[in-house]
Amino acid sequence: MDKIISLCKRRGFIFQNSEIYGGIAGFYDYGPLGVELKNNIKKAWWEEIVQKRENVVGIDGAIITHPRVWEASGHVEGFTDPLVECKKCHERFRADHLIEELEIKETGAVGEELIKKLTRALKGVKCPQCGGELTKPRRFNLLVEAELGVVEEGKKKVYLRGEACQNIYLNYGNVLSSQRLKIPFGIAQIGKAFRNEITPKNFLYRQREFEQWDLQWFCHPKEMEKWYDFWKEERMKWYKSLVNHKENLRFRQHEKDELAHYAKVAFDIEYKTPFGWKEWEGIHWRGDWDLSRHGKFSGKDFTYKDPETGEEFVPQIVETSGGVDRTFLFLLFDAYQEIKGCRTKTTKAVKEVEILLKLHKSLAPVKVAVLPLVRNKPELVKKAKEVYQMLKPHFSCQYDELGSIGRRYRRGDEVGIITSVTCDFQTLEDNTVTLRERDSMKQIRVEILKLKEVIQKILEGEEFLKFGKIIK
Ligand code: ATP
Repeated sequence: MDKIISLCKRRGFIFQNSEIYGGIAGFYDYGPLGVELKNNIKKAWWEEIVQKRENVVGIDGAIITHPRVWEASGHVEGFTDPLVECKKCHERFRADHLIEELEIKETGAVGEELIKKLTRALKGVKCPQCGGELTKPRRFNLLVEAELGVVEEGKKKVYLRGEACQNIYLNYGNVLSSQRLKIPFGIAQIGKAFRNEITPKNFLYRQREFEQWDLQWFCHPKEMEKWYDFWKEERMKWYKSLVNHKENLRFRQHEKDELAHYAKVAFDIEYKTPFGWKEWEGIHWRGDWDLSRHGKFSGKDFTYKDPETGEEFVPQIVETSGGVDRTFLFLLFDAYQEIKGCRTKTTKAVKEVEILLKLHKSLAPVKVAVLPLVRNKPELVKKAKEVYQMLKPHFSCQYDELGSIGRRYRRGDEVGIITSVTCDFQTLEDNTVTLRERDSMKQIRVEILKLKEVIQKILEGEEFLKFGKIIK
């Protein structure tokens, strides 16, 4: 984890939010490379869930909604985590996490049952920070509140959304009537959510402001099981297609006493992180809970009439809900490799450890590096800059002339650049360049005229060596 955090800062992926003021727990900013990677991740999800399917459409809802939404959703009453506080140093802990860390025993209960279990399990446990006595666990609401209104007396309490998906239920009727859709269909959204997490930790894993992606799939009650299984498999397939270490992915089924009261079944897709198996995305059986609750609180009727059979029913929902920032972090865990003895054999670097960020081609924040072999030959620099200008409108590109060529290759590998284009002395003679592939480090010669097309095909997954003979 420390290595990932340091790489993220050093190379401009992630910065601590408000760092110059000492930072604020649970908030991070994405830097120049981070925002590229994050955008590519979101684009990949959108393509997979919305673009490639006929019956899924997207929305982008507001962060603040009518406060009644959170009463209807159950969040005002029940969106709580169990909190204990040290009576001496006043440090606060999430009781269930404390138990996990102390390896007392896993507890799967929810609500009051959970509080009772935790109280029993934490009997006699002292504050890990100072050894002081801990309070009994109590329920702590995670919704972040804000005030809205221009006059002091008329200010209204609102909530920053605790989960992004509520906007989807709110707009179910609007989408249905405006898009000529029929059940079954899906509504997808990527957006920010806010939670007053008691102990934000593990870098991007548990933040107070983060982004979620949700698909809510509306279907006939009799088809719930079929669609639940379908989406569970689809989502796992997608994650497998993006990672190098498929063995680090698994399903975890929620225990009976962990399930929300409306859920018949719930599975998490988990990844094996340096701090254990952790949830990446949840596949939830929400049934008719959301539409029925919003129906009751708003007085609107969400009954659907099948246009062919005339049958009437309230659609049921399968939800797949994952975290963008968690995906970012887990993909870095998956991609990060240290190679001893150095792959690029420059004399100085032989004893060093080389970092390779083996990100999927579609996700890498920079696709192409353009490098003059040396920077003290103006003709080479001129040529390399021309090639850079030629490629830049088509791919995310970087121009780099500082340091030895080996060092520059390594700098590129460290942030996952897929391919490097080097202009050397031969370039000046025959208008060909050296093209180097990140993972194999193989090099081929390619004509400048064909460069754009070749890179495009390599990024689409075609075999690198198809485009030229190995020269190294
Ligand atoms: P956890 O048990 O880890 O708190 P959750 O079960 O409460 O997560 P959901 O409400 O199902 O999470 O949210 C869907 C997804 O949003 C999660 O799978 C996770 O990827 C992401 N997520 C949830 N909470 C956070 C957070 N505090 N920081 C970053 N991502 C989060």
